[in-house]
Amino acid sequence: MRFEKLLLGVKKNILLKNYTTFRIGGRAKYFFVAKTKENLIKAITVAKKLRLPFFILGGGSNLLVSDKGYKGLVIKFGRPLSLYVSKGLDWAAGIPGTIEGAVYGNAGAFGKSMKDVVKSVEVFDTKTEKIEIFKDCQFGYRDSIFKKKKNLIILSVKIKSGKSDWKKIKEHLDYRKQRHPKLPSAGSVFKNVEETPVAILIHQAGLTGKKVGDAQISEKHSNFIVNLGNAKAKDVLKLIKLTKKSVKKKFGIVLEEEIQFL
Ligand SMILES: Cc1cc2nc3c(=O)[nH]c(=O)nc-3n(C[C@H](O)[C@H](O)[C@H](O)COP(=O)(O)OP(=O)(O)OC[C@H]3O[C@@H](n4cnc5c(N)ncnc54)[C@H](O)[C@@H]3O)c2cc1C
Repeated sequence: MRFEKLLLGVKKNILLKNYTTFRIGGRAKYFFVAKTKENLIKAITVAKKLRLPFFILGGGSNLLVSDKGYKGLVIKFGRPLSLYVSKGLDWAAGIPGTIEGAVYGNAGAFGKSMKDVVKSVEVFDTKTEKIEIFKDCQFGYRDSIFKKKKNLIILSVKIKSGKSDWKKIKEHLDYRKQRHPKLPSAGSVFKNVEETPVAILIHQAGLTGKKVGDAQISEKHSNFIVNLGNAKAKDVLKLIKLTKKSVKKKFGIVLEEEIQFL
């Protein structure tokens, strides 16, 4: 049976740049918006049955999508992280994307991260096709079990009950406004190294403002690469390669990407 009949609502040849904060990326062969976890499981099961590769897309805010796009099924799923900011996640104010994406990368800011607030995670294991509840997500700095085991798909997240401080929310949003570029980006490109802000290393390596095509190492925050208008993934990749090479040469430090790739 045709894929479109097995998964009602699936779309074809969808431009992924419209679903990423970087505004970069080619077309997905198939694209499906899963509004419920049941829909998500259904989409995964159908893709598996047809041996079609699949990828779960949250808010697309930590992602560089290839200019060639994706020859499989992209499933868009997740609840906005912003819905949780008033429930004890004041430190997360202004972090774009979904709570599922935030758990995947243990997103954090101002000394806090998802590991401090997650009570449990409901997971679909694509290998066993079983649903499990995870209390230990092996969180580390911008790391979790979900980064290591791609068969584990996050269905829902329970957070510890907490209260937010509105003054702090405003302060955090103001800080972001002042320090972060307004142009399209995927946030910090590299993980910080032993508490050293990578932005300082990149700046000291003389790379602030460096451009390849329409991709530029932000003049406002050197650990952001921004899209000046028509940047391609290949331009961003060249800047990433150059940054890693320059920082290694000047400081002997090997940078690790925080952004994810598709
Ligand atoms: C302006 C700006 C500021 C930012 N500031 C911060 C910051 O302060 N701190 C910080 O940590 N990050 C920051 N980020 C990065 C980004 O917003 C976070 O990493 C965010 O949590 C990613 O969530 P997302 O839903 O957009 O994930 P996506 O980018 O859509 O996906 C990221 C990864 O998560 C996986 N994933 C998503 N959903 C699921 C699921 N249900 N199951 C399994 N895997 C899944 C995807 O497959 C992908 O590999 C910033 C980004 C921008 C653009």
